[in-house]
Amino acid sequence: MGTDTAEGPWTGAAGSGDLDGLARDLALTVLIHGPLSRRELADRLGVSAPTLTRLSAPLVERGLLVPADEPVVGRLGRPARPLDIAAGAHSFIGVKLAGDTLHAVRTNLRAEIQAAAEAPLPSQDPADVVEAIRTLLPRLGDVDRVSGLGLSLGGSTPDHRLVTRAPFLHWTDVPLADLATQTLGLPTVIENDLVALTVAEQWFGDGRDVDSFAILTIGAGVGYGLVTHRRLVTSPDAGVGLVGHFPVDPDGPWCADGHRGCADTMLSITGVTAQAALALRRDVTYDEVMQLARAGDPAARAIVHASGLALGRLVAAVANLTMCERIFLSGEGIDLAVVARDAVLEGVQRDRDPNAAPVDLVIQPHDADLWARGAASVAIQQFVLSRDS
Ligand SMILES: [Zn+2]
Repeated sequence: MGTDTAEGPWTGAAGSGDLDGLARDLALTVLIHGPLSRRELADRLGVSAPTLTRLSAPLVERGLLVPADEPVVGRLGRPARPLDIAAGAHSFIGVKLAGDTLHAVRTNLRAEIQAAAEAPLPSQDPADVVEAIRTLLPRLGDVDRVSGLGLSLGGSTPDHRLVTRAPFLHWTDVPLADLATQTLGLPTVIENDLVALTVAEQWFGDGRDVDSFAILTIGAGVGYGLVTHRRLVTSPDAGVGLVGHFPVDPDGPWCADGHRGCADTMLSITGVTAQAALALRRDVTYDEVMQLARAGDPAARAIVHASGLALGRLVAAVANLTMCERIFLSGEGIDLAVVARDAVLEGVQRDRDPNAAPVDLVIQPHDADLWARGAASVAIQQFVLSRDS
């Protein structure tokens, strides 16, 4: 595991980093925190006013930065027009690929969702998948000004072009970016879905204002993303089940790789549902398990309580080992953290030194658009960091 090697405080998995360091920092500061007055920008970047003018001029000329509509009162009482990003001048498409569906959004430069659509995948053949995206695009409205496409999936893509493995799609070494660019005519970047979600949180979400945060997602598996010192921590192993095998309950069931009580068996939708099916001796859905636990069914309640405790212990482990400021819990199985909230907090407390700061835990309601927005965020990142855009 290592941090991204690009220079400057803002880095991302897919960043090619073509802009000079300071110009890039300026563009990103306005994108993430703007609109900001020139004085405030100069202060934040630690540069003089003339240097700021020199740095901003080409970005204004390129149409990336614009003077904001609303003047703000400057330090000397004079109205000043702050710099803002030209958010509406560019559109981006983000597509999250799951095993049987694709979910797409169109966003502006600030990753604000303008349109969303989803469609079933006709097959898992890469050419069919790209064709399904092509068919879906008109449903996202005005796609004439699209500046980039981001595709995310549960899998590994070390160079952001070739998908080396994607178990849900049964893919090995699929040149997905080349296929998509040929068919769609758009600059395309590929990213692991968890990394993409983390980028969206770092650039456009509640991770903007902290130096370090982690995301844990509960879904078909358990996912984990980390930003530390404002850098995304990533690795060619992103997409391999790393945190999924973290031990969280010595008495839990076994996973396919022979671990007892690892995060996947205790926390994933599949793991929780399988335990409930065994106890109730019938097929159940995840939603039903949660409803039964709410209603006081003894088996469902015991299983959900144990999973909540295990989730709390995983949260505590992340907080203790990474010393991050905030932890987000997210994903389609997030109901576990809501139904078993007390158990989660108990699990955190159990493994946390009483003198340590309380964990800043944020439970995010599930929103399928967020994953596609993550993919769009990676395309935005690529666009902003590239001089040629
Ligand atoms: Zn395991």
